[in-house]
Amino acid sequence: MESGAVHPGRFRMVKNAVSPPPRPSPARSPGGPVVYWMFRDQRSRDNWALIHAVRLANQSSAPVAVAFNLFHRFLGAHARQLGFMLRGLRLLQHRLRDLGIPFFLLRGDAAETLPRFLRDYGASALVMDFSPLRNVLQCKAEICERVGSTITVYEVDAHNVVPVWTASDKLEYSAKTIRSKIQRLLPEFLVDFPNLPKPDVEWSAGDPPDVDWDDLITEVLREGGGVPEIEWCQPGEDAAMEMLMGGKEGFLTKRLSNFHIDRNDPLKPKRLSCLSPYLHFGQISAQRCALEARKVRKSHLQAVDVFLEELIVRRELADNFCYYQPHYDSLQGAWEWARRTLMDHAADKREHLYTLDELEKAKTADLLWNASQLEMVHYGKMHGFMRMYWAKKILEWTSGPEEALAMAIYLNDKYEIDGRDPNGYVGCMWSICGVHDQVGYDAETKNEI
Ligand code: FAD
Repeated sequence: MESGAVHPGRFRMVKNAVSPPPRPSPARSPGGPVVYWMFRDQRSRDNWALIHAVRLANQSSAPVAVAFNLFHRFLGAHARQLGFMLRGLRLLQHRLRDLGIPFFLLRGDAAETLPRFLRDYGASALVMDFSPLRNVLQCKAEICERVGSTITVYEVDAHNVVPVWTASDKLEYSAKTIRSKIQRLLPEFLVDFPNLPKPDVEWSAGDPPDVDWDDLITEVLREGGGVPEIEWCQPGEDAAMEMLMGGKEGFLTKRLSNFHIDRNDPLKPKRLSCLSPYLHFGQISAQRCALEARKVRKSHLQAVDVFLEELIVRRELADNFCYYQPHYDSLQGAWEWARRTLMDHAADKREHLYTLDELEKAKTADLLWNASQLEMVHYGKMHGFMRMYWAKKILEWTSGPEEALAMAIYLNDKYEIDGRDPNGYVGCMWSICGVHDQVGYDAETKNEI
């Protein structure tokens, strides 16, 4: 592979241009611009999709731009999540400007705004982030249908260390079945990032319209004010790197040593990395976290290995589930054996039955559960160990698994700063429906898994 190139397994062409691009107008550049539609990987550093977009642009002597589409309260996001995201994007816009890459903020339905934007600027290629969530897949399909035949569309998995489609071409049963597949590919994919190339051709089609970030943030904070912002976690790429390896409280520099033991102790919340908000919004790359963790592996062997298991295997297993299981957030997505057992016990007598309102307000007879719920409501991040207990109790206290799952996902997505994520859907499915949790039988290999 040519040095600095993006591994061919990391991106794929999802739509090929079938007719030549229009002759560029003299006011425009030699080649139509390459547009990177950023949505899941909101960063300038260590971003394979951005690297791919700039390389494509340079190869065709075209300019490059980043477009971000702000949906209206995507997946029910509130002030907590939107404020964090927009404050991060404001910093990102400055950083991109310093790199000579314009940043356009679009608002509305990306299936409409993106094709219009591409048409207006005579784009020749679109590069998109990867996400396994159904709304995004559907939106992308619509975009591909609507963009003109002169545009080539690429998708890049810049979120996972091993791209989902390369790691496995099927729904994996458990961590055990995907682990060896991922590990086999790590030497190829867990490699240092090349420097982001400088765009060869300047963007000359006019500056992006100014974004009044203060106004925008005030607006989303007002609209989604039912769940306010949190203060313990500052947004942005620099803050993310500080959380990973800062001199004061960085995870790898100051908090890593007993991760393998203390990560399951809710009395020691700082022993967790606290990287999930940054990973969720793509303000840090999981690959960067893994590369930096490997550098300290000699002195913290078990801690690093357990961290990498969570960060790579568990996280990428969640993407695998959501990508290959269209019912990733409903009982239909559970294995047959789990559904049968759950339905067999659906009518069991319950000691307590709580409404959504009672759960949301932490009005149960279980003080530990109430404390966890309130931690999530006010702090925006429940301890990982308590999340399992929290979700399993909801199954015990509701009329059946379907209701339990719907309520757990609703609360998780509403209050967690890292909610609305494949990890969250799989976390709830794991706790309530046993996904990835049981020894089973692989029909293909006939092995126990
Ligand atoms: P660390 O323990 O420091 O782990 C580092 C990273 O590894 C995490 O940031 C995460 O990306 C990954 N990771 C850790 N545990 C898991 C796991 N079980 N599955 C997949 N990836 C993992 N995670 C979210 O990111 N968003 C959610 O909405 C979410 N909801 C959950 C709901 C339930 C019911 C359960 C059981 C788990 C949920 N998780 C969720 C997974 C996990 O609890 C969190 O990722 C973790 O607590 C985040 O804190 P941390 O970054 O300090 O984690």
